[in-house]
Amino acid sequence: MLLQELFAAGPASRADLARSSGLTRVTVSDLVAELLAEGLVEELGTPTESRVGKPPTLVGLVADAKHVVAIDLSVDDQIAGAVLTLEGQVVLRDARPREGRIGANAVALVREFAADLIARSSRPLLGVAVATPGVVTPEGVVLDAPNLGWHDLHLADDLAAALDLPVYVANDANTAVMGEFVFGSRGEGGLLLLRLSTGLGAGLVLGGALLHGQGGAAGEIGHVQVDPDGPLCGCGRPGCLETYLAVPRLRRELADASADRADAVLADAGARLGQALAPVVATLNLGEVVLSGPADLVEPLARVAEQAVRDRVMPVSAQQFVVRTSSLGDDGVLAGATGVVLAGELGVS
Ligand SMILES: [Zn+2]
Repeated sequence: MLLQELFAAGPASRADLARSSGLTRVTVSDLVAELLAEGLVEELGTPTESRVGKPPTLVGLVADAKHVVAIDLSVDDQIAGAVLTLEGQVVLRDARPREGRIGANAVALVREFAADLIARSSRPLLGVAVATPGVVTPEGVVLDAPNLGWHDLHLADDLAAALDLPVYVANDANTAVMGEFVFGSRGEGGLLLLRLSTGLGAGLVLGGALLHGQGGAAGEIGHVQVDPDGPLCGCGRPGCLETYLAVPRLRRELADASADRADAVLADAGARLGQALAPVVATLNLGEVVLSGPADLVEPLARVAEQAVRDRVMPVSAQQFVVRTSSLGDDGVLAGATGVVLAGELGVS
């Protein structure tokens, strides 16, 4: 609770922490002593404009006390990773080609890459997080990730045993929305993040908590059918939203289109996105939808989709509603993976 407060509100005195947490000052002093001993917080001296009486000493989180290893499997045929501070700043980054590896071979690649990043980190590690496409349980079991050939894979347990560190595995869109919520600009009234990569997935934070859904598949908007006569999707059905918005498909369409048709391709994709989002936005009265993906694609799509949603919902739902791009850019998934470890290990969100 205290770490959460220091993380969200910045340095505070022990008296401030007692007030904000509702704990007694004695309890707060004991807890701060423990955190100081662990090196997770530090004393920052006294504020200069201190009032009458004994000036309070501020304590603050030490972002560099421990680091986190994060791995992102959401980019096509690549495995990206980084070592980050507790504030989601990248200390070092690396990437390796996946070269079509799936199943156990893909697991081995993740394990070796994580071990390499762990060996190269200069601080004690709080944990490891892996962001993967597909449906993942809160316990880190990958139920289904077709692109990686993973089904009912106990990835978090397997990696934790091999790496001897706490390991968290989460869906890439859920990870990205955690990144936006913890480190980016969190809006009031709910946050839906759509991640455009090999496929299309969404992550949703409502009332400050990540939504998992009954089967761990909350956010699977990519396989909602928007046109029964549309192109065939990887899931076997025609006209899923994903077939219009997956990055490889958009890139192909744009390459085929003449220069004056490029805008029309993005306008069509954006309109379909807005059409699929409107009922969700209206039902949940969402304040914002964030698009995460290549900047040259998500920026024009955000403008078209926002208008398409506005055209389809009541004015009260459209009021102050925005579609914007991620403030964290391409590092959103990695920063979010840090957020997942913080939430799991320190209860911070
Ligand atoms: Zn589909």
